[in-house]
Amino acid sequence: MSEFQALRRDGTPWQPMFIEEINGETCIGCGRCFKVCTHDVLAMMGMTEDDELVAPDDDEVERMVMTIANIGNCVGCESCVQVCGSKSITLISAADVIAA
Ligand code: SF4
Ligand code: SF4
Repeated sequence: MSEFQALRRDGTPWQPMFIEEINGETCIGCGRCFKVCTHDVLAMMGMTEDDELVAPDDDEVERMVMTIANIGNCVGCESCVQVCGSKSITLISAADVIAA
């Protein structure tokens, strides 16, 4: 484990938790994570019957799923995880990102 440690404004320790993965099988495409993320990390996509990701307006769309479009924009706030009722989002600590 890395020694990395972030701080809150008051100087107390805080460990950023970045988004790592969204489970496309359990995601119900509700869009709640998209609404709370203010860093342009996420994008709604369509999923076909054959589990292929396609544009949301594609004729073959069977259901909608959230995807990670700009992972480098994530600031590790965890808001997306807190609103996901299907527990589809996996996070990784900043320390583990640095150690990888
Ligand atoms: S952890 Fe925060 S910044 Fe990162 S994807 Fe989730 S809501 Fe967006
Ligand atoms: S909040 Fe969860 S279930 Fe809803 S779109 Fe985001 S990852 Fe999918």
